Amino acid sequence: MGRVALVTGGTRGIGAAVCRALKAAGYTVAANYAGNDAAAADFTAETGIPAFKWDVSDFEACKAGIAEVTAKLGPVEVLVNNAGITRDGMLHKMSPDQWYAVINTNLNSVFNMCRNVIESMRERSFGRIVTISSINGQKGQLGQTNYSAAKAGEIGFTKALAQENANKGITVNAICPGYIGTEMVRAVPQEVLEKRILPQIPVGRLGEPEEIARCVAFLVADEAGFITGSTLTANGGQYLA
Ligand code: NDP
Repeated sequence: MGRVALVTGGTRGIGAAVCRALKAAGYTVAANYAGNDAAAADFTAETGIPAFKWDVSDFEACKAGIAEVTAKLGPVEVLVNNAGITRDGMLHKMSPDQWYAVINTNLNSVFNMCRNVIESMRERSFGRIVTISSINGQKGQLGQTNYSAAKAGEIGFTKALAQENANKGITVNAICPGYIGTEMVRAVPQEVLEKRILPQIPVGRLGEPEEIARCVAFLVADEAGFITGSTLTANGGQYLA
């Protein structure tokens, strides 16, 4: 049995690609998801990877969910904080609900998950934590003050946690994808995609979820122990941080 890897939001999009890549690399993988039971059932049927349902914005739910994964599969040695949502709108029209939903699901979730695995990782003197941030946390994006703030917060969190645990065999890194062809991006109107987004990407296309999964597999490897506190950009050259 390989190391246990837990991927939040692991049943669809980038997370599902991460789960498949880690399974192929020999990890024992658990996928978390929020509420789309049909997608989770299809994912498990296709991959054989078990799916665990809880809301990552809820601290106690994370605690219980991680305990369940640990009881079924073993201690979590690899954590991929991937779950995320968008609730876009210009700030002058943004409701408190839009703000808090994105901060809670994208940023507070990272505290909720890391806080509930870090002590066990420290005791075992091994851990790999990767958080999927975003290009829009690096450069900001109009209509996304909530999302850009959460994603920038993930980068700062990563750098601080990396320093706290560098002498414990635990690495903590962030990945900043550009535009990747998942349902999150398919929600963008086709005209906006073709006229405004694609022309900004020098590589000339959207990224594939598998291209982000490859970054995760690289960072969580046992051999990647010297890489910590880093931000890996994978954005087709759109923004050079
Ligand atoms: P998708 O919308 O395709 O999938 C999101 C996944 O997260 C689903 O499995 C969903 O579960 C889960 N999820 C959402 N909310 C919660 C919650 N509260 N608790 C637990 N699970 C939850 O997203 P993407 O694959 O596009 O994005 C994945 C990550 O990558 C996000 O953090 C996103 O911000 C980031 N990202 C994406 C980019 C892109 O272009 N797609 C670019 C840069 C960053 P369910 O199926 O149950 O709804």
